[in-house]
Amino acid sequence: MEYGPSVEDSTAVRDWLAQRESFGHFIGGAFTDGGASFETRDPATGEILARIAQGSEADVTAAVAAARAAQPGWAALSGTERARHLYALARHVQKRERFLSVLEVLDNGKPIREARDIDVPLVARHFYHHAGWAELRDSQFPGHAPLGVCGQIIPWNFPLLMLAWKIAPALAAGNTVVLKPAEYTSLTALAFAEICQEIGLPAGVVNIVTGDGATGAALVASDVDKIAFTGSTEVGRGIARALAGTGRRLTLELGGKSPFVVMEDADLDAAVEGVVDSIWFNQGQVCCAGSRILVAEAVAPRFEDLLHARMARLRVGAPLDKSTDLGAIVDPVQKDRILSICQAAVKAGAELVGGQPQEGCFIAPGYLRNIAPANPGMAQEIFGPIATLSTFRTADEAIELANATRYGLAGSVWSESATVATDLAARIKAGVIWINGANMFDAAAPFGGMRDSGHGREGGHAGMLDYLTGPAIAPPARTVPK
Ligand code: NAD
Repeated sequence: MEYGPSVEDSTAVRDWLAQRESFGHFIGGAFTDGGASFETRDPATGEILARIAQGSEADVTAAVAAARAAQPGWAALSGTERARHLYALARHVQKRERFLSVLEVLDNGKPIREARDIDVPLVARHFYHHAGWAELRDSQFPGHAPLGVCGQIIPWNFPLLMLAWKIAPALAAGNTVVLKPAEYTSLTALAFAEICQEIGLPAGVVNIVTGDGATGAALVASDVDKIAFTGSTEVGRGIARALAGTGRRLTLELGGKSPFVVMEDADLDAAVEGVVDSIWFNQGQVCCAGSRILVAEAVAPRFEDLLHARMARLRVGAPLDKSTDLGAIVDPVQKDRILSICQAAVKAGAELVGGQPQEGCFIAPGYLRNIAPANPGMAQEIFGPIATLSTFRTADEAIELANATRYGLAGSVWSESATVATDLAARIKAGVIWINGANMFDAAAPFGGMRDSGHGREGGHAGMLDYLTGPAIAPPARTVPK
């Protein structure tokens, strides 16, 4: 069966872009006009898609004021009323699934298969799930209250999905938000703003201010009650410093260099498929990518043969083509960054298999082998389609290598023995561990890191707690069943 976005969907997106041409901020339920702006491009072709407003301090102040004014009314709605709005957002995202998928692909460069089958369905799921939490808030979190106005800053790798991860729990808890999308990928956030208008979300509950790092810094310095940031560890550190001592809440979802551990008894074909989902998904621009492959020495030659053969079959190309496996890197600056880390790794003695740059914003999938623990390619987050591959002899050595990083976001363990897999999983220092799988997400499963990967959780019960104050009254004592 033919399904998914077609030529007509692309035409609808192009018409939408042509009608708007230049996008303002979404403040107090309406779009602003005028002011400074910048271009946003399709990374696959270099074509200019639209102009986006560059948010000033005054824009941020206006958005925070609109969110502040709307917050008491939003918090005063019953849980069922807030849920009704969240269900409507979920349904409208589903209704415009094909449109949003194509728009995301044009702005970000990811393959349409991924936008259509992963990003946008997960966005709808996140709003559905949190509609449930809106209804359950008072019974499940007695004595907790919303924080107030939340400032939210997101990266460009999963633009609409990161928006959903931020906005859905904040609204379910009774907060209002000012969200700043990444400068490379603001378009789906602006389309989402139109959905907020369409469903009649009260004005000021969701505000979107576009712009670059300076706009983000203005939001951090503004009168918000919480900052939720997803992005690089370096910027996250600066935000933590800026908020120190202010009493404002902060959650940080930062970078990673996650281990992908293949034990001797693993199903190697499945593990190779896991690598594809792990490091070549979204061109490797995934915070929790299994970017350090660690393989048991006894099976390493066979594993590498399989990996090499599978890698050679991956198709790099036009993101809107349904058969494309790897699309474009988000921007030429990021492409240069990836290539320079690979060059440094090779200079330090590693061997690069594949991973060659192609014309435009494209890089073939690859991996670095014969790589020493001190090689810069082992320490730095490459954030591109290049993994590292090293071997180990014992389970203890695997754990030592897996934990030899300042990050602690995710990890993946491959073994046919449940005992071996669960034992290893418990010893890897990371917020999320997958067994015989990789990059699996669900709105009910909390996601987040430790160490230099940040703190706080998104999704499920734990994610809701990060958008609520502590209990004002002690929760009822639990009776322990005899
Ligand atoms: P980035 O830190 O450069 O930018 C992220 C966002 O922060 C953007 O919206 C940007 O405009 C804004 N920003 C930049 N400077 C700022 C400042 N001084 N103050 C406030 N805001 C500022 O990161 P990126 O290059 O967009 O994204 C890639 C990084 O994000 C990677 O390190 C990746 O691992 C991480 N990431 C983490 C997660 C997670 O859940 N842990 C998810 C996706 C991406």
